[in-house]
Amino acid sequence: MSYDLVIRGRRIMTTAGEQPREIGVTGGTIVAIEPLGNGLDGARVLELGDDEVLLPGLVDTHVHVNEPGRTEWEGFASATRAAAAGGVTTVVDMPLNSIPPTVDVGALEVKRKVAADQAFVDVGFWGGAVPGNIGDLRGLHDEGVFGFKCFLLHSGVEEFPPLDADEMERDMAELATFDAVMIVHAEDSRAIEKAPTPHGAEYASFLASRPRGAENLAIAEVIERARWTGARAHVLHVSSSDALPMLASARRDGVRITAETCPHYLTLFAEEIADGATTHKCCPPIREASNRELLWEGLLDGTIDCIVSDHSPSTVELKLLDSGDFNLAWGGVSSLQLGLSLVWSEARRRGIGLQQVVRWMAARPAELVGLTTKGKVALGYDADLAVFAPDAAFVVDPQRLHHKNKVSAYAGRALAGVVRRTILAGRDVDTAPGAVAQGRLLRRGSVERVSGPGPDVPDPAPEEG
Ligand SMILES: [Zn+2]
Repeated sequence: MSYDLVIRGRRIMTTAGEQPREIGVTGGTIVAIEPLGNGLDGARVLELGDDEVLLPGLVDTHVHVNEPGRTEWEGFASATRAAAAGGVTTVVDMPLNSIPPTVDVGALEVKRKVAADQAFVDVGFWGGAVPGNIGDLRGLHDEGVFGFKCFLLHSGVEEFPPLDADEMERDMAELATFDAVMIVHAEDSRAIEKAPTPHGAEYASFLASRPRGAENLAIAEVIERARWTGARAHVLHVSSSDALPMLASARRDGVRITAETCPHYLTLFAEEIADGATTHKCCPPIREASNRELLWEGLLDGTIDCIVSDHSPSTVELKLLDSGDFNLAWGGVSSLQLGLSLVWSEARRRGIGLQQVVRWMAARPAELVGLTTKGKVALGYDADLAVFAPDAAFVVDPQRLHHKNKVSAYAGRALAGVVRRTILAGRDVDTAPGAVAQGRLLRRGSVERVSGPGPDVPDPAPEEG
């Protein structure tokens, strides 16, 4: 028996931790995992170095690609190249900041058409829940979105208005009829209005304008509305650690609620953010160092399920780096390419192993969106893999990132862990200029191949349309 690809290494991150193994891949799927030394036969053989670990490709369920409509902010080609360079093999695109936003089936079709030949990794889509589109939710679900995002305050863009808590509850009740998940940007609109307006370049003033209370209140609403409707809900980008006991308590009660946090809340902290550093502006904001410690605890005790990027870029101009005005600058931290190294660098300082990091960044996000063949190195899983050198180091140079806009909150930061190779469905991802994008567009529950077939794909698939 000969496989399309055999990977041999002393450190293969299996579901039982790092093991010396040989992996056999056929047709883009992991079909053999055997002890190292068995000598599996492959058309292509990859021997890992002793300093390299084979990881499952990461699954990043919180990415703002912004195309079409704000393609100057990012775009499918640049976002998925960055993902691949960072060991991320699946991204799920947020429904807003693109024009149109993904709030009906027509808009989803537009986005799929645009993404089809530009996806260097696999790409799925979230739908949006906005005032007046309750009748569109089922259709979007049937067309394969992974769930629905809503805001409980102004989203930052006019074409994606927020819901109030009662509207969110009505939409949740609708989603419960087909068991779709509502994912929520949880900051309370009234609480933000009552908070002081941020002024100028002072980070402390910005932080005071987005108080924990606003987040706590909104998360409480999400929990109770999920309790009342029986719907599944997911809290996006948890920043306020105050909310963790509520989330844990709700889960003990059987409320179907999950939560995520992001690399910036786990690696940065307010006390070190310089005034005028609008690279660090995001909502909810990066809070104090003590808060960061509690978020790590929340991950370790399972209250927070996963870590995803909330990659939310804009043009460099919109970050207003010259004036450093926190009130007017666009909010969003870009980290799609850096997430694994950021989280790993911080985790290892805390004595947390790579297996745990990968669970938070691959297996758990895959479970959140029901991608049952992604996020693990296991039999029957997609051969979406990353070759990672955990002890190698590098210094972040924004110019070398694939992100379209070369502005980073992490510029100059020394990080541990280098992604040396990314493999999608058994083939190396080539991100060089002119390379053909081999990613697929994902639908909930199935995978649709949209790019030209390689040697390991038996059937040529039709063009996505
Ligand atoms: Zn976001």
